[in-house]
Amino acid sequence: DPKQLGRANLENSGGGHDAKNLRVKLVLLGDSGVGKSCIVLRFVRGQFDPTSKVTVGASFLSQTIALQDSTTVKFEIWDTAGQERYASLAPLYYRGAAVAVVVYDITSPESFNKAQYWVKELQKHGSSDIVMALVGNKADLNEQRKVPVQDGIDYAEKNGMFFIETSAKTADNINELFECHAISDVVSVLGHSL
Ligand code: GDP
Repeated sequence: DPKQLGRANLENSGGGHDAKNLRVKLVLLGDSGVGKSCIVLRFVRGQFDPTSKVTVGASFLSQTIALQDSTTVKFEIWDTAGQERYASLAPLYYRGAAVAVVVYDITSPESFNKAQYWVKELQKHGSSDIVMALVGNKADLNEQRKVPVQDGIDYAEKNGMFFIETSAKTADNINELFECHAISDVVSVLGHSL
């Protein structure tokens, strides 16, 4: 199981001698099949695995990123599928998360509705300063698009979220999602505790 390999990264301290270290918990939420695992695999390993199966239970990946000012940020990426069956446990899952990435599939209006459900959940139960990103994945399937870009933009704006469309398949905007939008804001939010 390729997802298990990510556990090895947990052993890396990811710090230099005068580097500042931040530990950031990042959770991914969204319907099964929207591409959460593929986004993480694309980001962590630079791969797209089209045989990727729907996750059973929860899996865990971790990635340490060096920023320009020698701050390192360690992302703990939690990915659950079938989490809708464990709705009452969800607050445990995103407790302490600094970043929540809520993913939908641009070809699936149902997944966009589900993303909105997760945003409401996070607003109810997440920490008050959680940084949320709304991600429309599978942007390479533009001909099959059923969720207009503007709908994503509008919803994200109303809810104070970052918005980006990605493709785990072509790697479009995957690095931008993690490195620009989410991290820079988290660093500024948590900056005092450095
Ligand atoms: P998860 O349940 O949200 O973790 O979804 P997966 O990462 O397992 O992906 C579900 C399916 O969508 C897989 O068959 C992937 O190959 C496919 N998929 C994921 N990302 C993309 C993408 O950006 N473009 C396309 N065309 N397919 C994708």
